[in-house]
Amino acid sequence: MQSQSNFLSNPPVGAHQSFCMKSPAQSLAMRIREAFPPVSRPPDAELTVHGNDCFHCSALIDEFKDERGGTFSPEHARWLVGELSLLSPSGFRWALPSYLAAVIADDADQDLGEFLAYHFCGDPRADEAAEREARIRVLSEGQIDCLIQVLHLVRSNLGSVYFSDVDEAITYLKLRKTRLAEQAGAGHPATRPEPKSEGSDKPQPESEGRSR
Ligand SMILES: [Zn+2]
Repeated sequence: MQSQSNFLSNPPVGAHQSFCMKSPAQSLAMRIREAFPPVSRPPDAELTVHGNDCFHCSALIDEFKDERGGTFSPEHARWLVGELSLLSPSGFRWALPSYLAAVIADDADQDLGEFLAYHFCGDPRADEAAEREARIRVLSEGQIDCLIQVLHLVRSNLGSVYFSDVDEAITYLKLRKTRLAEQAGAGHPATRPEPKSEGSDKPQPESEGRSR
């Protein structure tokens, strides 16, 4: 019984953690559940950016036709790897907590986290940038903060070759969160039109990736 006594005097780290403390991923899973109260799934026509007129969007609608609850499984969330840009803002808000839970799951596919970061990278003046901004605008500060924390965890689990993408995504989200806080502090609704007097007709590559 040598092995058993070794186990008792030196329990594996995982077993110890499950008794005494939460891992970063477990704490984060709890934060996600708190920050994202389940919302109802948008109707098919409102789930994606292009609806059934588009081959890719209709594939997503078909894939999720039986998912009518507030959340779905990590296995199903894997289908969304590289496809987050197909989701409408309300579809994104519905799918995001399930996707984030899959990203931080113990047996997570690393692609899930990498593509989450890629989604928030790229030229802020490109066409997709406006859609990406619209997806962020449906989130609260606390929800954006969860996204940032998930990306920090992704970063700590990745090889250094991908750091720049994850860092770019984190920087982008932090700017969005700051702007949201400023708007809330000023009592402006998040959807207010940008005043022309700010010089929004001039390109401002260094400001913060403003898209209009
Ligand atoms: Zn589409």
